Amino acid sequence: MPEFCDVAVAVPLDMAFTYRIPADAAPVVGGRVLVPFRQQRMTGIVVELHDRKPSVTTKCILSVLDPAPVLDEQLLRLGRWIADYYLAPIGEVFRTMLPLSAEFKRSIGYRITEDGQMALHSASMSGSSARSRRTPEEQEAEIRVLDYLAGSELGDVTANLVREEPLRSAARASKSILTGMVRKKWLMREDVSAAQDATRTTKIAVLKFAEGKLNDNQRILIDTLTASGGRVPLETLRSLEIPRSTLGTLVRRGLVEIVEAPADFSVSRTKPRSAPFEFELNSAQQSALIKLRESVAARKFSGMLLHGVTGSGKTAVYLAGMRGVLEAGRSAILLVPEIGLTPAVAADLHQIFGDEVAILHSALSDKERAEQWHRIKRGDARMVVGTRSAVFAPVADLALIIVDEEQDSSYKQEETPRYHARDVAVMRAKMANAVVVLGSATPSLESYFNAKKNKYALVELPDRVEQRPLPEVEIIDMRQEFQETGHEQVISRKLGAEIKDRLERKEQVMVLLNRRGYSPVVLCRTCGKKLECQNCAIALTHHKREHKMVCHYCGFAAPVPKVCVHCGSEYVYFLGTGSEKLEELLHGMFPRARIARLDRDTVRGHEDFERTLNALNEGELDLLVGTQMIAKGHDIHGVTLVGVVGADAALGMPDFRAAERTFQLLTQVAGRAGRGQTPGKVLLQTYFQDHYAVQYAAHHDFAGFYEKELQFRSWMHYPPYSALANVLVRSDNLDDALQWSGTLGKWFDSTRHEGVRVLGPAAAPIMRLKRDYRYHFVLKSPSREKLNTTLRAMLAYATQQKIPRTQVIVDVDALWLM
Ligand SMILES: [Zn+2]
Ligand SMILES: [Zn+2]
Repeated sequence: MPEFCDVAVAVPLDMAFTYRIPADAAPVVGGRVLVPFRQQRMTGIVVELHDRKPSVTTKCILSVLDPAPVLDEQLLRLGRWIADYYLAPIGEVFRTMLPLSAEFKRSIGYRITEDGQMALHSASMSGSSARSRRTPEEQEAEIRVLDYLAGSELGDVTANLVREEPLRSAARASKSILTGMVRKKWLMREDVSAAQDATRTTKIAVLKFAEGKLNDNQRILIDTLTASGGRVPLETLRSLEIPRSTLGTLVRRGLVEIVEAPADFSVSRTKPRSAPFEFELNSAQQSALIKLRESVAARKFSGMLLHGVTGSGKTAVYLAGMRGVLEAGRSAILLVPEIGLTPAVAADLHQIFGDEVAILHSALSDKERAEQWHRIKRGDARMVVGTRSAVFAPVADLALIIVDEEQDSSYKQEETPRYHARDVAVMRAKMANAVVVLGSATPSLESYFNAKKNKYALVELPDRVEQRPLPEVEIIDMRQEFQETGHEQVISRKLGAEIKDRLERKEQVMVLLNRRGYSPVVLCRTCGKKLECQNCAIALTHHKREHKMVCHYCGFAAPVPKVCVHCGSEYVYFLGTGSEKLEELLHGMFPRARIARLDRDTVRGHEDFERTLNALNEGELDLLVGTQMIAKGHDIHGVTLVGVVGADAALGMPDFRAAERTFQLLTQVAGRAGRGQTPGKVLLQTYFQDHYAVQYAAHHDFAGFYEKELQFRSWMHYPPYSALANVLVRSDNLDDALQWSGTLGKWFDSTRHEGVRVLGPAAAPIMRLKRDYRYHFVLKSPSREKLNTTLRAMLAYATQQKIPRTQVIVDVDALWLM
């Protein structure tokens, strides 16, 4: 066995740390070990075993957690690539790749010192010291702690280590009492974190006897148990809507026993589909599928951009392709955007792939996530469907990765490591000699550009299924509407009339307004100031139903003001319209219509989302109002009219992706209309009616938009023509933020970086966020390598200047420059 191992620990430092391997331990590369790090115990991934004696003294690893690698050679390579490409600390990359935090329990232990023994002794001799500043209650708590720790000692006074939780409950002591005692050196604190068995258990009711007198409810429970062979999960019994006390009574009488058993792995509580999933493909879908299968069979890397208009049946192609992979005994990963993984989708997947599918969504607990990970690792589930981090699923023999709605911004992680799952998917496919399919109705500029350059095969699904027409789009110029009506309208006369018309014909309507809350701005007409968040340079949004002013960036909430908080004036005005107010307006205009709203305030989880969509699908709703949530890929056949209110607001933002985002959103929401028998119509209200993003979206002209937008990007040296990175310097202390960004600015000026443009330092568009003051640099270069080298040198300089690593954020391929 080599003498040393290098371990990547999840800390914000760009390096691995060397530890000595004890004689009885056998760590493996790609496996986890427990190591002492500063005053703590942490898990890390072994990246190398070697005999090179480091110049500094090394500590020993504490234990080996995995006898075999949890990250295979390919995933280790992928992790190193991410760390390098995104300039992210390697340990933090591995932590993101491994959803196994549930298998490690953080915990602190205490032991009594000799000073503590003396204190306990003198306290019992003389009572409490009169000069103490502690309250008598605190002194009593301290004595209880000392007493408890000293109580069961066996000769050696420092031997008894007790974990924090049992100690605190036994001695009835607060955390601050313990901390104070550590400061007085009466106690020693020690990190006793350790690996633990994270197997999830579930409670099961077991039938013991079925005799005796039973009332109706008791009879139902006993019959249910008998019918299921005497064992039923408690959760199932609870869904019978019988008072909980009934079961309690049966347990007390000894008829039923509750036992703990390992939970089975069916995580998503899905209801079976009413009809089997149909794979009836039209000729365009057929030929896309044939291409996909040929590429997979070739067993070498290739990329495909599947560009299909809304409603063209991309999903059927994905699933048929994955089924082929499963039949060949290989593995596939399907990535979907955050909002895409509804229970209905899960039900489809279970029906097609049975127990071979693992579904990874954001609502899973840490334990559930770990279980799914182990299922995949064991090879029990070879079809993996999930959001962003599913790209790291430990499948063997990967044949196919599909990224659905590849342009979706939820694929980019907005914290370290700031990876883009689509780009990681492409890299993983390369390393595995697999096929990557990027699917979208509105591909990102980057992917479309790559396809045009023949880096990916471009496969088009130009028609909707069953030859349904794309909806007719009409633009309504809101400046003209203002001139003709004399006041600012939320719903134009035309949109109002068309909604009325659809409601009379018993057809359904969607109205999109991509801004939540009631009023986005509260303004004082006396002093002209806005009501802003305490922590951010962001106006607070009025949420009427919750009677609150809320910051959409940090969650800060304040009461609704009656007078101006700055000058005390009573002339405070609530300006603008959010989705909550739009819903209220529509209720007023159409009092008999059944209206629901979908946005982050009405949707707490996938189930809320699904429930509202189901109601719309079943015809229980006439009108659905919402933010971009309503624009995403669902298929409701009764919707014949889509109204778009203020979806072009983004065009006024200082963001080079604004046109692309607006085009994508308008196309996606327009695609919700006319998916059934009746053709659909879209009314697009705008103040930017001449903007090309609006015009091309209205004409369903993808190619036209991309050409125009690519021209603009090329002129301005923006992606895909340049690699781009945002470097953000932040601190809750304004002087630090200014000084650090000044230091880095001078460094950028004084060092020549040929082929790299550096803009800044400038105040970030959101200058204050979550209490931090923010300054940024934007770096652009046609050469990714040069950009990477410059960023690396900058980080090294920042470290040398003692700028904390966590306060300089490097975002490579940033989606937002805010
Ligand atoms: Zn004021
Ligand atoms: Zn805020």
